[in-house]
Amino acid sequence: MRARSACSTAIGRSSSCRLALADESIEHTSMLADLRRESAAGAEGFYNYDVWENERVLEGSATVALTMAEQLGDRIRCSSPVGAIRISPHRCEVMLTTGEVLTAANVVCAVPAGPLRGISISGISDTKLASLHRQKSALAAKFVAVYDHSFWEGAGLNGVAYMEHNILGGVWAQSAGIMSGLVPPQRMGTYLATPRHHLGQALIDEVVDAFGDAAATPAKTYTRSWGTAPWTQGYVTAWRPGDVMGVGPCTARASRRSTCAGPTSGCPATWKAPCALAAASPAKSSPPADSPPSPPTRPTTGTAVSSAARIPTTPDVDSLLKPSDHVDPAHLRTAAPAETAATHLASADEKFSVGTWRAEPYAEYIEAYPGDEYTRIIEGRVTLTQDDGTTWTFGPGDAFTIAAGWRGEYRVDEPLLKQFAYYIP
Ligand SMILES: Cc1cc2nc3c(=O)[nH]c(=O)nc-3n(C[C@H](O)[C@H](O)[C@H](O)COP(=O)(O)OP(=O)(O)OC[C@H]3O[C@@H](n4cnc5c(N)ncnc54)[C@H](O)[C@@H]3O)c2cc1C
Repeated sequence: MRARSACSTAIGRSSSCRLALADESIEHTSMLADLRRESAAGAEGFYNYDVWENERVLEGSATVALTMAEQLGDRIRCSSPVGAIRISPHRCEVMLTTGEVLTAANVVCAVPAGPLRGISISGISDTKLASLHRQKSALAAKFVAVYDHSFWEGAGLNGVAYMEHNILGGVWAQSAGIMSGLVPPQRMGTYLATPRHHLGQALIDEVVDAFGDAAATPAKTYTRSWGTAPWTQGYVTAWRPGDVMGVGPCTARASRRSTCAGPTSGCPATWKAPCALAAASPAKSSPPADSPPSPPTRPTTGTAVSSAARIPTTPDVDSLLKPSDHVDPAHLRTAAPAETAATHLASADEKFSVGTWRAEPYAEYIEAYPGDEYTRIIEGRVTLTQDDGTTWTFGPGDAFTIAAGWRGEYRVDEPLLKQFAYYIP
């Protein structure tokens, strides 16, 4: 704007708009990020209210949570902070801060980026973790004033105001009779320094300054200090130059067993920005509350990464095999098989492993194979039936590969002993 000789009023207006959205100042905003979110929303022009604000839950957004709660029933844990998440090839563990461990086939995370950084996460790539840690949160607060009607409409106003020198960055009409305002990060110091018992009135006075006395007597006001609340720590609104490329595409992508539920690096929106990872679907088992977190999963047999070793086969390998749970009960088409396994080598991040697996006959249907696998059959027979009907049967001496994402039936026809090399992306 300066290069084009924009006047200071025009620049000031632009800056105020940004403050009202709890965004960074225009000098610190990435044009790439802006263009990306505009293109994601399909808006023409920056922050087109009609485009950004047109998706609402008619009954109120709490309906979403209440509907989910109805269906999940007692599987919901309230007041149960998650302290650690471990993703391993065959199951996920979610450790509560009480020490209780929940196991699940998959984890969907819906914790905002700030608190998520405080959760210890293992089993996903360093790049993905680095991407999470690169996210910046806007430490903003929200103010809402509820009036018995949209008084601003009577005066021919749209209810939007940008505030240059207040605690609030601006306000807008959220819905009938409801005016919302944001305290941008740049003004959180003043907000926090204002004594709590003066704060509500101070914010109402700012709205009165903008709209006159009709704004003076809201039926109710609410403030939420999201930026300083430990469980939210603000939200991702702003992208400085370099942020988009710095964060990279990693956080937004789901790995096989852990999924980021909210838009993060791909985040197109301002309001709907918080990144996400809360542990969910604690389905499999819930050991007693006093169970200590289990130690990180490491190979119980095998060799150090720096040495070479022969992979034992029958009969030597049998003494190494331990009960295992490689088969996901949710996929079973038959009774669960008796199974045992040994790991001969695993990378430090546990994404790559080489092992031996014994299983009794069973069948499972796999929606998407979690990793890339090389298998060599030593004993028994396996039939793979791909979703398009293609079938392969493999017996002793045969070797085959399965690519991550493969979909179909995996059936062990005869007691199986296989060796595998497995990589989970
Ligand atoms: C200042 C501000 C103003 C906003 N204004 C608007 C608006 O006007 N309109 C709009 O549509 N959206 C608005 N939003 C955005 C909206 O609030 C979010 O998009 C929405 O709440 C995101 O929902 P969520 O479930 O992803 O995250 P949240 O609602 O933040 O839920 C995350 C949950 O994770 C829990 N959690 C955190 N840490 C842990 C842990 N360790 N273990 C277990 N649980 C944990 C938290 O307790 C919380 O319940 C605003 C957001 C902010 C910050």
